[in-house]
Amino acid sequence: MPKLAMHWWILMGLIAGVAYGYVSASYGESKHVLDYIAPIGRLFLNLLKMIAVPLVLFSLVAGVASLNDTSKLGRIGGKSIFLYLITTAIAITIGLVAVNLFGPGKGLSQATRDSLQKSTAADTTARLESADVSIIDQLVNIVPTNPFGALADAQMLQVVFFALMLGIALTKLSRRVEGTTHIVKVFQLLSDAIIEMVQMIMKIAPYGVFAMMAGVVADMGKEPGQLGDLLSSLGGYMATVVIALVAHYLLVYTVMLKLFTKLSWKQFAKAMVPAQLLAFSSSSSAATLPVTIRSVESLGVDEEVSSFVLPLGATINMDGTGLYQGVAAVFIANALGMDLSIGQQLTIVLTAALASIGTAAVPGVGIVMLVIVLKAVDVPEAGIGLILAVDRPLDMCRTVLNVTGDATVAAVVASTEGMIHPGERSQSGDS
Ligand code: ASP
Repeated sequence: MPKLAMHWWILMGLIAGVAYGYVSASYGESKHVLDYIAPIGRLFLNLLKMIAVPLVLFSLVAGVASLNDTSKLGRIGGKSIFLYLITTAIAITIGLVAVNLFGPGKGLSQATRDSLQKSTAADTTARLESADVSIIDQLVNIVPTNPFGALADAQMLQVVFFALMLGIALTKLSRRVEGTTHIVKVFQLLSDAIIEMVQMIMKIAPYGVFAMMAGVVADMGKEPGQLGDLLSSLGGYMATVVIALVAHYLLVYTVMLKLFTKLSWKQFAKAMVPAQLLAFSSSSSAATLPVTIRSVESLGVDEEVSSFVLPLGATINMDGTGLYQGVAAVFIANALGMDLSIGQQLTIVLTAALASIGTAAVPGVGIVMLVIVLKAVDVPEAGIGLILAVDRPLDMCRTVLNVTGDATVAAVVASTEGMIHPGERSQSGDS
């Protein structure tokens, strides 16, 4: 490829994918895209997922063991969780302010409601059935009964927990047993090798993103007549989500970076582009994780911080998802002619924060967890049928914010710990 920064190539892949998917769908030719091009996107995604678990395991063990200071680790963990919770609560509040301000869904006619719910009926039932989750169980399950099972099932929080304990144990052992540092070195080298694999995989990112986008757009455009109807009835709701997401980015992340780090907004935004484009096209923070780690390290954030704070964030921190759940809950209430009191809206902040923590970092789970929020404020759960048809594009947008939020917190935590050294890491030559 001619010399041009990698994120431009990925952006071109994204635009070309949208165009190709759109043109194919408008000529009724979606089938070849779904049968032959979309699988290339899934292949690319599999490559990223393949390295996410070993990357977290190796780099976290190596990072913790070389940190040699468990109290520092506790402090980094405490700060990260605190910032994750605060930013999510602010995100939901911004979403609620926006949805109250714009009031989408008010006056949606009975006929539109019926047709929306009818078109998504089967899918709604399937999602409602999978929404049975208990927050307590999720907390208990952070400790894996079998770490190899956790690795095999890509249970990221369990992997993080095990890797932390192994790293701490190696640190303690190294004070008594000679040669432990060799083991730590092995983890370090394995982690470097995985980072090398990320570089290799990212070389085909523009093609992967092209194929993913073409597949998504061709799938959405299978029934082209529907698109206009959806936009006219759900356009206001979609715009509210997107405006609130952008507001959170501009108000919260930029201010955090300015207050707590020496990074300029421009520097941060530039480094994040590859991860954001990938989050957008894959709708998965988990699949994007290797690239988020690479982006954050290119800003000079120490591996000890990035390898701990980012996987934790990918699993528990979802500002975009929480914000979206707040907007969606009020939109559904509006559409059903229900008024939510201030008390109920506060309940939304709390439950959406919990629901976003429990949301798995893969496509389309945010809307399933929305059921918890709806239940808490007595809005009929079947209301998710109203918004299901446009969930994918919003999922793409909220995942971008989820990933950006993780990276912002990692940069802030690293800065306050003196563990960021801008300019020390290379930009890996391609971004
Ligand atoms: N797709 C989102 C993510 O992976 C989760 C969601 O909101 O559905 O971050």
